[in-house]
Amino acid sequence: MLIIMKTDAKPEEVDQVIDRIASVGLGAHLSQGEERVVIGAIGEGKVALQYQDLFIRMPGVDRIVPISRPYKLASREFSPQDTVFPLDGVSIGGQGIVIIAGPCSVESRNQTLEIAQAVKEAGAHALRGGAYKPRTSPYSFQGLGEVALEVLAEVREITGLPVVTEVMAPEQVPLVAHYADVLQIGARNMQNFTLLHAAGESQKPVLLKRGISATIEELLMAAEYILSHGNRRVILCERGIRTFETSTRNTTDINAIPVLKSLSHLPVILDPSHSTGHWQYVTAIARAAIAAGADGLIVEVHHNPEQALSDGAQSLKPERFAELVAQIKAIAQAIGRDLATPQTSATQIQIPLSQRVE
Ligand code: PEP
Ligand code: MN
Repeated sequence: MLIIMKTDAKPEEVDQVIDRIASVGLGAHLSQGEERVVIGAIGEGKVALQYQDLFIRMPGVDRIVPISRPYKLASREFSPQDTVFPLDGVSIGGQGIVIIAGPCSVESRNQTLEIAQAVKEAGAHALRGGAYKPRTSPYSFQGLGEVALEVLAEVREITGLPVVTEVMAPEQVPLVAHYADVLQIGARNMQNFTLLHAAGESQKPVLLKRGISATIEELLMAAEYILSHGNRRVILCERGIRTFETSTRNTTDINAIPVLKSLSHLPVILDPSHSTGHWQYVTAIARAAIAAGADGLIVEVHHNPEQALSDGAQSLKPERFAELVAQIKAIAQAIGRDLATPQTSATQIQIPLSQRVE
């Protein structure tokens, strides 16, 4: 339930409510609005509501509002306003569309730097690149691990682009969080609950991908795990779901975008690369996502997709990515939005491309 404080509630009255929430074994989540404080008293199912009489007559309390959804902190009821937070100076979840782009996997320093510079020039706001790769086959390229994290950190220094990279196991969270700006939790790990707890505890922004066969409600419940640790910086990502259709790798659930936006206050982005699996369809579906209300995109880009160590078939060449960005800008403007303003603090040092990781 939500405990809505009066506009003139005193700080000590807020503290008394928080203490009482703790004393009945519920979690207290404070939300400081422009006019008043709202406190979420969160427990399982309808349990919290049993205690409403304990709070209604406390000094400073205006009213109690139940949260009807099973996910509480992720729900629009908890926060009618959109969650907006900065990614290295670029706001995500606000009016501006944020574009994250880069290779599926970090293959070498040279490859990552070259792609990062190209996507930055085209207007990307953040760099993606996998260091730990969840591959269907154990014989496929598994990622360069910590070496790749070092490459990403160095490329961030050079380009100024914040880094999004996947973390696959709870014990990897401290290491990945040390290098990355955003922790990606992949589709295959959306319900890895120990990983969700660890990502929540890390307090780093988390890009949470929808599971291959997960419902929208399951995605929001997964987000709730992260939020329940007080980590409010969660980005929801639709990346296509498994259906009977085989013409594309997955089926883009465009519906999920307006549905998530209405059920939750969290930023919602689309991954048109994994949702289609073919570079030919990526731009069309990216346009559709922005038209449908997505707050951003995560797109795979590679200079030489034929040689890519993972997901070459769905990777855009930099020139095509630049066209995508231009089209996204036009669509954003047509619906009263725009691309997010890129931050300008990048250090433009050119590093010789001959220094390779391998
Ligand atoms: C990826 O981003 O490269 C990836 C593996 O994505 P997903 O978890 O959506 O399959
Ligand atoms: Mn990929």
